[in-house]
Amino acid sequence: MATTALERRLFVDGEWIETGDWLEVRSPYSGDLVGRVAKGGPQETKRAIDAAERAMREPLPAHKRAEILVKVAGQLGRRHDEVARLISEEAGKPMKAARVEAKRAMSTFTFAAVEARKLAGEMVPMDASQAGEGKLAFTLRVPRGIVGAITPFNFPCNLVAHKLAPALAAGCAVVLKPASATPLSALLLAELMEAAGLPSGWLNVVAGSSAEIGDVLVEDERVAALTFTGSGDVGWKLKERAPRKHVALELGNATPVIVCADAPPDTAATLAANSFSFAGQSCISVQRIYVLDDAWDEFVRDFVPKVEALVVGDPADEETDVGPVIDDDARRRILEWIGESGGEVLTGGETNDRDLIKPTVIANPAHDAKVSREEVFGPVVTLTRTSSLDEAIELANSTRYGLQAGIFTRDLRSALEGAQKLEFGGVTVNEAPTFRADQMPYGGVKASGNTREGPAYAVRELTEERLVVIHL
Ligand code: NAP
Repeated sequence: MATTALERRLFVDGEWIETGDWLEVRSPYSGDLVGRVAKGGPQETKRAIDAAERAMREPLPAHKRAEILVKVAGQLGRRHDEVARLISEEAGKPMKAARVEAKRAMSTFTFAAVEARKLAGEMVPMDASQAGEGKLAFTLRVPRGIVGAITPFNFPCNLVAHKLAPALAAGCAVVLKPASATPLSALLLAELMEAAGLPSGWLNVVAGSSAEIGDVLVEDERVAALTFTGSGDVGWKLKERAPRKHVALELGNATPVIVCADAPPDTAATLAANSFSFAGQSCISVQRIYVLDDAWDEFVRDFVPKVEALVVGDPADEETDVGPVIDDDARRRILEWIGESGGEVLTGGETNDRDLIKPTVIANPAHDAKVSREEVFGPVVTLTRTSSLDEAIELANSTRYGLQAGIFTRDLRSALEGAQKLEFGGVTVNEAPTFRADQMPYGGVKASGNTREGPAYAVRELTEERLVVIHL
């Protein structure tokens, strides 16, 4: 529980500004006030873009950008407890998971610093054609321009880090709009970047009405790139509305896993641990498990008790595995989806005495039920008995999403078949598809997005090639 509510101003043009209006941040667990944040709108967003434009007129050399990123990583390490607690309080994320997120944010800044120092174009072999004889050519990687970044509630620190750190590595100034439910971690990162020596205007954080801030970011031609992580409905509309901008989308998933008869013995434990972390509110939380016939009885016997052993409760408690979902609307929707699944609820399916949804396992839901196709974003997993690997792959693919998927088998051929046929941006073998290390190329296909994050990949997205031809 938050002991003292924080008060945070917006960060625009190197200044911490008040607006006269406030956004309240409440604990999703207790409802207590965690903090309040100055609420911005179009005026602050325009001011932020003006500042970003001025900042980019004086480019920061790569070594300075890298030094700032390294300093922020160091501060994230030194202030680990504070960072993790803030994530936990504003998002209702159990401390165990909040600590992992805080550490991963260090990693994101560290890898971005490496990319800042490596950023370079390439030589073009001009004498490979007759036309090119007598000429030298190479490419530079130049920053696209001002980046408008929009982030979701579920990783309020590390997903903000995945926007800010690569943008700075690429030499782009940023206007960030964090999720209204969880703006405090973003503002803490801004504080760390300022303390690390980031000059005015390179980072601006404007919390407030998503439509108003989003409209300015979409309509202002000076914003060259939009990078959005969140739900598909919002993301794809943004892209439609900004045809001349570079729009990078990291969206949802309905994460499937296939369990073959020859899966490693700890498969049920791995999947139980990765299906309910942060109450399933991760875009790659395991949601749909397709179990082949021969593995079914043993898997169900192993999996359900492991799910029942998860500790449900106060996110501030270091022992808690599963806390609240983000708000009442989410809780109501998830319970509704469980109710209409058409399957057998093996455990959970209801709330506990603190109104937390118990980790829920549903056996054999209808193939067209929402839990089988849409993103639940809650502590719910389906188990579906399948007769063959082909059928499991077909069912895993029967969704509009395509972010990450997993397959558990010790047979190399089945593993490679999964890797080739599962229509997802990433396929994990004998590892839950919830796995992400921050340097990986991470992103989706189909409705799950159109880009790859991970500092090396995000830096490529946020820079463009400029060709230089020299006549010798
Ligand atoms: P969301 O409702 O789409 O919100 C994401 C962000 O978009 C928030 O900052 C939100 O602001 C803003 N937003 C909403 N409407 C907008 C508009 N019209 N114009 C501009 N911005 C707008 O998503 P969420 O509930 O926070 O996050 C959950 C979703 O994110 C899930 O679908 C999850 O899978 C996805 N996600 C994807 C990844 C990935 O890497 N692929 C990672 C994490 C989460 P407000 O908060 O002010 O409404």
